[in-house]
Amino acid sequence: MFYKEGQKEEMACQGALVVESLVRQRRISIEQVYSSIKHYQLCIKHKDTLTRYVCRQCPFMKEDCDFQSTSPSDDLEPCGGYMVLAGLVENRIINTRDLDNQK
Ligand code: SF4
Repeated sequence: MFYKEGQKEEMACQGALVVESLVRQRRISIEQVYSSIKHYQLCIKHKDTLTRYVCRQCPFMKEDCDFQSTSPSDDLEPCGGYMVLAGLVENRIINTRDLDNQK
């Protein structure tokens, strides 16, 4: 519903914006983004933290994000930014303070 033909899409999910911000601040490197583990189980493991610090600020949280819907199917994956952040948290490259600073 956000797509308009001929217009550049300006909206981005909060997961992508947080990753971009961390890279811009040189808190993480591009290499760390690409090498972060993108594993579904990590997304579930860190869901409370990432929901609190990332998804609650996301414009897609309420209606459009299937992963954060009230009854997601078991294998529904989050956005790529969320997956990268879950890997970075798991590897202790970033912590809740880093995420809190991106609000
Ligand atoms: S998982 Fe969904 S709500 Fe969370 S940042 Fe990604 S798109 Fe937004």
